[in-house]
Amino acid sequence: MSDGSAGSSATGSGATGSGSIWRDTRNARSRARLDRALPAIFPVPVLQHALSRPLLPPTPRLAVESYWRAHILRADRLARALAARSGAPEGWTWRLGTEPGLAASFRLPPSPYREPAHTRGRGHCCLCGQPVFRFGWHKDLWGTGTPNKNAAWHSACVTAWKLWCAPAEQVTVLKRHQRHRCTESGKRLFKTAEVDHRVPLYRVWREHRTAPWPELLGYWGAPNLQVVNRVVHVAKCSAEAGERAARRRAEAVPSAFPASAFGETDFARVDAHVIQPEEYDERPELTDAMMERADRSDGPILVRRGRAPKPAPKR
Ligand SMILES: [Zn+2]
Repeated sequence: MSDGSAGSSATGSGATGSGSIWRDTRNARSRARLDRALPAIFPVPVLQHALSRPLLPPTPRLAVESYWRAHILRADRLARALAARSGAPEGWTWRLGTEPGLAASFRLPPSPYREPAHTRGRGHCCLCGQPVFRFGWHKDLWGTGTPNKNAAWHSACVTAWKLWCAPAEQVTVLKRHQRHRCTESGKRLFKTAEVDHRVPLYRVWREHRTAPWPELLGYWGAPNLQVVNRVVHVAKCSAEAGERAARRRAEAVPSAFPASAFGETDFARVDAHVIQPEEYDERPELTDAMMERADRSDGPILVRRGRAPKPAPKR
């Protein structure tokens, strides 16, 4: 709106003058709210992060969420470490289905503590199974000794879950993590680069289904994620699709007449075969009446038209 002469150098962020005034007012209000709600004990890095935001989060809870959103790979590591602390529930196996807590597809990470049979109840994270404390934090910094009964997720686990379920949305973070190099070709990543699972998820389900649960989560997290250039990704996906199709064919219901049992058709032999008189055995004998009815021709020239069968005698 302004011509830029007033506010252009007031902030380093290139915001217009009116925008920066709006932001300053909003941030002052948020800061006041945050100060009022902030407990005496609060994770220092979270507060530092909050105060460095262009738009300051107005509550401790939002400050924690903002912190994990800015540290997705750290959240991924933490969520898997917390899950390892819980381990898989006794007797649990990874299943797919429509029952509550089960995922319908192997594309979603298995989460045993979301299944009603294994849930640890309110105050425990449904993803990792560990207790949740104030503001969705994973450690009891406040020494209350009891988890926050209103919480069912760690803030870090929410962020990790989002990464695991939709890694393509974090392509920017993952690109930076790889220093903008394609992990397959070693070339610089283009704008169109795509997120890929090193070990494709269909193979995780097929080959690693029985791996211990917290380890399984690694297939959805950073250890199994890579950004590759589009052309590399297309080639990899098509190779994987070919491999799956070949496997489907091999596992298909066997034919009632498999080549393995009867042998492939030997076309050379079929072509060389001359039909023998005894192979006509099943043909009916031609009668004189049949010959009478038939048209006779010599090549294309009709020699004699066959006689129509006599009409049935009148009664
Ligand atoms: Zn958790």
